[in-house]
Parts: sequence; structure tokens; C-alpha cells
Amino acid sequence: MIFEKISTILTADELVDKAFSRSVRAGRGKIGGEYTDKKEIEESMVLTAGNILGDNLRNAVKDWPNLERIEPFYRDLTDILVGVDELRKRLASVSWASEKTREISRKYVGMIRKSQDPVLLRKQAFARMASIVYDVDKDLRFLNDARNKLRQLPDIKDEPTIVVAGYPNVGKSSFTAAVTGARPEIAQYPFTTKGIIIGHFTRNRIRYQVIDTPGLLDRPLEKRNDIELQAIAALRHVGHVLLFIIDPSETCGFTLEEQMKLLEEVRDTVKMPVLTVANKIDVEHSKADADMEMSTLKGEGVLAVRDRLADMLEEILKPKPPEEKKREQEEEVHQI
Ligand code: GDP
Repeated sequence: MIFEKISTILTADELVDKAFSRSVRAGRGKIGGEYTDKKEIEESMVLTAGNILGDNLRNAVKDWPNLERIEPFYRDLTDILVGVDELRKRLASVSWASEKTREISRKYVGMIRKSQDPVLLRKQAFARMASIVYDVDKDLRFLNDARNKLRQLPDIKDEPTIVVAGYPNVGKSSFTAAVTGARPEIAQYPFTTKGIIIGHFTRNRIRYQVIDTPGLLDRPLEKRNDIELQAIAALRHVGHVLLFIIDPSETCGFTLEEQMKLLEEVRDTVKMPVLTVANKIDVEHSKADADMEMSTLKGEGVLAVRDRLADMLEEILKPKPPEEKKREQEEEVHQI
């Protein structure tokens, strides 16, 4: 997961404490040693504090992935959760502070060498460095907060991916479990309390990813708030095909009409090829307008559905001739 590498980011207070206690230790290390010169002690204290602050501030920035290059799915979610522009600004502030603290420490080390009052200069250097760090305290807190939110995003791989949708109780999780094995992974997704379910299957040595999104693509969009709508929209960056499951027995508690209405809404939102499949054909049901039929309970038709989805993905993801690729890229540039 791209945000997992980021370590906890300390607050200004914590950073200043850490830097100054280390510098005191560094100063003491010099006493009684080879150097008993007062200037050496003060110099080493300022240098140590500058290094600790500079390094820690730089580390708070350098573990972040390049926001220009992260996958669109994560970019969208980052934007919803913390705001990409805001994040970029905060990273720039902290990066500036890292440079600045080092610069102050270097400058004062030089001054201490020539000075009659090295203790005073060391105190000034500490005060100036601390003031820079306190200037970016709000940025450090923002970054730590963002880090905590973003780390919880699900680890969705760049693999051929099927997103499963349909009203609750139509058989989405039964299908996902049937094709991907008994224990799909449940990943936290900050926009639904239920988490999203990610499973895999392999066909002809190609690995396919199946994502079930309880709480996201399972009820009418008009009842959604903006953030949920954006989160749903982000899904189109991970999914390549959408499996929409219909329950024509209506034992799920939703009429066929309601289900077909949701299908059209979801189709418009996700903008990816859709396969509609009627499930629960083992029980009494009305005739549904679907591409295929299955019973996940009896295991009938499930493999055929899986294969059709894999065929669709193979077709969609097969390498395109160079002219077509070029045209698409040009279109993308236009959209921007
Ligand atoms: P989800 O909420 O869409 O994930 O639906 P589930 O997979 O949890 O299934 C909801 C209910 O429908 C469960 O009680 C399942 O046992 C039942 N169910 C799922 N598939 C079938 C099927 O093919 N036939 C019948 N009769 N029941 C099914």
C-alpha cells in the first residue's frame, strides 16, 4: 500500500524536545574529552540540533508518494480524504522548514567560531530553529492526520478487476466467495463501515481481482452525500468491468423494477462495461432482462459468469495497436 511507508510525524513540541535533548547529550559528550574548548561544545550542540530537526522534517516529507504519479484511484481518494492541493502545500512548508533549520544551524556554527559569547549564540540559534519548527506545527499535524487516514485505504492491486454491484441480499458476497475461494480479504474503506471485500481467481495463469463494495453500489444514488458519490466515482479507476447482480425472485426485498432502476444509475456512474446477471434462478422468479443467469446457492452458471467476465476483461485489457493508444492519449490530454 502506497501510504504504508510513512512513519508517524512528530509535532513541533516533540521535535524540539528531541532535538534539544540530543544536542545537550552531544554537548556533554565533548566535555572532558579531547575538546574542552567552550566553542566546540556550543558548536556541536547547534550542529546536532540542526541535523536532528533537518532530518526529521525531511523524513516527514520524503516517505510520501509523488502525488503527480499515484494511481488515479488513490489520487481521487486522497483528494476526498485530505485534499491533494492542501497536502502538497503542507509538504512544501515542511520541506522548507527542513532546509531552513539546517541553514540556521550552519550559519550559527560559523558565527560561534568567531564569537566571544558562544553560549548566547547557541541560545539564539536554538530559538530561531524552534521558531521555524513551531511555524510548521499545523502542517506537521495535518500531515500526521492525513497519514493516519490514508494508511487505512484498501490495498487494491493494478490487476484486471471486476466490481460487483446490486441491491443488498441479491447474492453479491455469495458470488464473490464462490469464484474467489472461501476467504476473501476485507479491507477498510473509509466511506463504508462494512469495508470492501477483495478476492482473486486465476484463469489461464492470469490473476483477476473481484471487489464487492457493500454500502457503495447497493442503493439509489439520490440518497448519497457528495463524499459517497466521489468515493463511488473513484471506483471506476480500479474496476474494468462491472457485474450487476439482479435477484428476480425479489426475495432480497427489492422489486425487479427498483433493481433495474439502480442498474441504470450505476451504469451511468461507473462508466465501465456492465454484465448483468440474474441470480437465484433455483427459486420461483419473474423474467429479468439480464445477460446471463445463475444460482450461487446451487453453483449453477457461476463458472460461466466468471468466464464471461474474464473474457470481457481479456478483450478490454488486450494491448492496443499503437495508433489507437496514441489517439486515446490525445483525447485524455484534451480532457485535462
Ligand atoms: P449480498 O448482500 O448481495 O452480498 O447477498 P448474499 O450473498 O449475502 O446473499 C443474501 C441471501 O441470499 C443469503 O441468504 C443467501 O443464502 C441467499 N442467496 C444467495 N444466492 C442465492 C441463490 O442463488 N439462490 C437462493 N435461493 N438464495 C441465494
